[in-house]
Amino acid sequence: MEQIQSYRYRYWEESLTSNPLISAAEARDLAADLSLYDIMALANSLTSAQVGDVVSYAVSYNINYSNYCAASCPICAFYVPMKIKGKTDRGYELSRNDIRNEMQKAKAIGATEIHIVGGFNPDLPVEYYEDIFRLVKEEMPGVTLKALTIPEIDFIARTHGLSIKEFVSRLRDAGMDAHTGGGAEIFDPAVRKVITTKEKISGEKWLEDAKIIHGMGIRGNSTMTYGHVENFDQIIDHIVKLRDNQIEVPGFLSFIPLKFSIENTPLLKMGKVTMPASGETDLKVIAMARIIAGAYIKNISVYWVAVGKEIAQIALNGGGSDLVGTAFSEKIFGATDRRDVTTSEELDHLIREAGKIPAQRDTFYNILRYP
Ligand code: SF4
Repeated sequence: MEQIQSYRYRYWEESLTSNPLISAAEARDLAADLSLYDIMALANSLTSAQVGDVVSYAVSYNINYSNYCAASCPICAFYVPMKIKGKTDRGYELSRNDIRNEMQKAKAIGATEIHIVGGFNPDLPVEYYEDIFRLVKEEMPGVTLKALTIPEIDFIARTHGLSIKEFVSRLRDAGMDAHTGGGAEIFDPAVRKVITTKEKISGEKWLEDAKIIHGMGIRGNSTMTYGHVENFDQIIDHIVKLRDNQIEVPGFLSFIPLKFSIENTPLLKMGKVTMPASGETDLKVIAMARIIAGAYIKNISVYWVAVGKEIAQIALNGGGSDLVGTAFSEKIFGATDRRDVTTSEELDHLIREAGKIPAQRDTFYNILRYP
């Protein structure tokens, strides 16, 4: 048995070395052919060749400017429906003063990156975004502003009659440096129909918008939310589509698989999802991401907030090369009761214990320092 496994391992290793552009069908065969441990070992050897032994993270501060949302996705525990605005005290829109206060907290932790996202709020004019982006840069002139998901950009542009190019160019003038890459979910239309609503763009449009934004020189991350109603083939197809998009118009800085956090979500309340993805699935997703996309999107990130610190640490020897960041003040996963906190010292410790070299990076994956 062992001999057969090691023969198959060598077959896939040689195959990927001669041609890293693995197809979706080949990726499915590989995932069925090898054990999880072999998949992780293969991913780890590719990681060493593609990025070495360094595992990076950013010191990042999250600001969620509003939780009102016109989309009401069943996958989400964060939003307050737009239609009950004014009838609930659960919703909010951050004012200039609120943003200023948030920025004081960002300064206190030495953040190099501000990550800003919110719900689809049609009441906020384009000037609101320009204003808060300028304020962020006034408060911290050297900080990198990573703002908005691609569906959020599309929604705001549509709401105000602007093209993606017009809206993003106004945001860039106001201080936007990168997009967050969120909202990709799973591209498969049947899955998307269950987990989102029609206000959120299709997977195809997400990929089209990414190409437009990258064509303007604004880069960002890419993501996938897994662990709900999708199957593994749809996960593979999603990663292949992101990789092919990257080959067409480069601009993705990283790929961050986001494990669906089920608590308090409509999908859980409706009984459509009853259990979170297993640790085995988490590790397989990271490893397959490295195998499918690592030659083209070399930073494969493990979001410890979603998978937990223990699985995150194991994934660093199975394809992961980044821990995303300290994620201070994160409210989207916080709404699903995932309120774990960390410090850069703890991330350094986790990385060293995994036998890797910790490094603090900026948004664009340039190393800032080795602790
Ligand atoms: S996932 Fe985003 S778009 Fe969907 S309800 Fe939540 S905040 Fe709104």
